[in-house]
Amino acid sequence: KATATKSKSSNKQQGSVYVPKPVPDILKTAKSQLSMVVLGHVDAGKSTMMGQVLVQAGYISKREAGKKPMSWILDENEQERERGVTMEIGTKTVRVPKHDIVLLDAPGHADFVPIMITGAANADVAILVVAANTGEFEAGFDGGGQTKEHILLARGLGVTQILVAINKLDMEDWSKQRYDEIQAKVKSYLLQQQFAPKRIRFLPLSGLTGENVKSRNDSKLSAWYKGPTLLDAMNDFLPAKRQLEKPFRFGITDVYAEGKGVVARGRVMQGFVEAGERLVVLPIGDVVTVNKLEHLQPPTTDDNDKNAFKRLSIGMAGDTVELVLSGIELVRLSVGSILSNPNARPPLTKKAKAKVFILDSVTIPIIRGARVMFHMQSLDIPATVSKLIALTKGGGEVIKERPRALSRNSSAIVEITLNDKIAMEQFSSCRALGRFVLRRSGDTIAVGVIDELL
Ligand code: GDP
Repeated sequence: KATATKSKSSNKQQGSVYVPKPVPDILKTAKSQLSMVVLGHVDAGKSTMMGQVLVQAGYISKREAGKKPMSWILDENEQERERGVTMEIGTKTVRVPKHDIVLLDAPGHADFVPIMITGAANADVAILVVAANTGEFEAGFDGGGQTKEHILLARGLGVTQILVAINKLDMEDWSKQRYDEIQAKVKSYLLQQQFAPKRIRFLPLSGLTGENVKSRNDSKLSAWYKGPTLLDAMNDFLPAKRQLEKPFRFGITDVYAEGKGVVARGRVMQGFVEAGERLVVLPIGDVVTVNKLEHLQPPTTDDNDKNAFKRLSIGMAGDTVELVLSGIELVRLSVGSILSNPNARPPLTKKAKAKVFILDSVTIPIIRGARVMFHMQSLDIPATVSKLIALTKGGGEVIKERPRALSRNSSAIVEITLNDKIAMEQFSSCRALGRFVLRRSGDTIAVGVIDELL
């Protein structure tokens, strides 16, 4: 018996058995929350479009917006970044009837790719903005543009629903022919990358004039387009699977001391939590108690429901919350730590088999033994690409076993060995702890998902 216990040491220290908590009714009926990343080539019109969404959905007054170019509304974060202020990803929520959509910022400039990836790594769904005007679409799609890379990134990180906004169609006099041409090209590429046909949607747009954001006023467009507006299409996203019945997991993105408590800010990855519960901090193993919980992006609740307050006292999968903890000192907690149900912990692992996609910007191929930084959630751990197992197609079909090197724009199965053990899981069991990014000398070189813990 002694040996059996020993060999299973790390994950079962508590000796207690995990009993799933019944999911409260208020969570079963809770409004869907989606995190959305906006992708697309630089200048495709991402900021303009999202600024327009915020205005037309009533979050900013037109007067307020009118004072500055539309794109500034979202670029304020960018200026903060330049001043060295920590950027907070996901600070804006757009409420549509079916979902609370949290916008993850995704600047298109090449040097912002790492930030974009951090955003995309938490995304449930994506909007890809492409500029329809002559020359610009072609530059963004073919000539070294970022459109394809962003599609591959989204795919590599496990985003399955994608809405393609064919923007700046006002510059093409709302030409159906141009719209069809672009749609055909982008669609064929998305299908090639194994996006499911049902999860790909297209719509014509002008972020600048606001046409087809919430309504259509231009008869040239209404003459041939009868589909949803952008806000309707956002409403039509499918809800993300929230895994409420699975054990609680929380990724810490910020920690600070407040009064007598320690505050951990972050996102609930799966399950749900309430004040009074005990959690384990991973990888260190300390046990803490949640004294208080506060929502940073309060979910929409039904004012007529007298139990609605209950929803606000619970942090469920998808929610961004602050947890006030006792039983631990601030120095013991760090960004990247995971809080978990103590009786059903994610395994602490050093070695894993993973599917990776090598980015287009990689000029030096990746060989066996390559030293990289492994970035998962908010953690950075030095690691080695310890085996090149196979070169694959985007969907996973093996093209070649044991390749000598991985060059840009290729997909592969590799073994990765980390310098330290961290909490991770198979992507199929926990999306948030199953997707990662690899960096080399500060550059992002690959994105991937964990297939198997070794
Ligand atoms: P981003 O880099 O993708 O965020 O692009 P921006 O939102 O900053 O837009 C880039 C430029 O394209 C700006 O000068 C915008 O005014 C212009 N623009 C954006 N959307 C449209 C549109 O729908 N129609 C036209 N004509 N111009 C647009």
